[in-house]
Amino acid sequence: MTDDCVFCKIRDGEIPSDILYRDELCFVIRDIAPLAPTHLLVIPVEHFERISELESRFDQTFGAMFAAAKDSAKAEGVSDSGYRLMINQGRDGGQEVPHLHMHLLGGRRLGGLGIPSERSSRND
Ligand code: AMP
Repeated sequence: MTDDCVFCKIRDGEIPSDILYRDELCFVIRDIAPLAPTHLLVIPVEHFERISELESRFDQTFGAMFAAAKDSAKAEGVSDSGYRLMINQGRDGGQEVPHLHMHLLGGRRLGGLGIPSERSSRND
């Protein structure tokens, strides 16, 4: 199901967004709510919700996504200073948009992974 998918709509030009990079397998946009000076999203062209759905397209999809991330980091000027690549998967991973995507964060010293809310909520 891709009818209501925000990233499919951006891919198809139904929602305006600057597409910074695009090839046949993935595209790159700026996150609408950036958590760092550079916050990009690297998104497969095809609608996969989960990594497990990639199956035989795993290598080529991730190859393209990591190459796009590397080149985008360079274009953003964060290649040398460093950056973080991050994929949220499913409910426990905090995935909000159910179209596989990789965050690229950089441009400032990032904090820790900010891991689980479960442990802190038990201590509340
Ligand atoms: P995740 O929690 O990994 O699913 O992250 C989804 C990300 O998509 C969030 O960081 C949102 O800010 C971002 N996002 C949602 N809608 C848009 C949009 N229209 N354009 C750019 N980024 C978006």
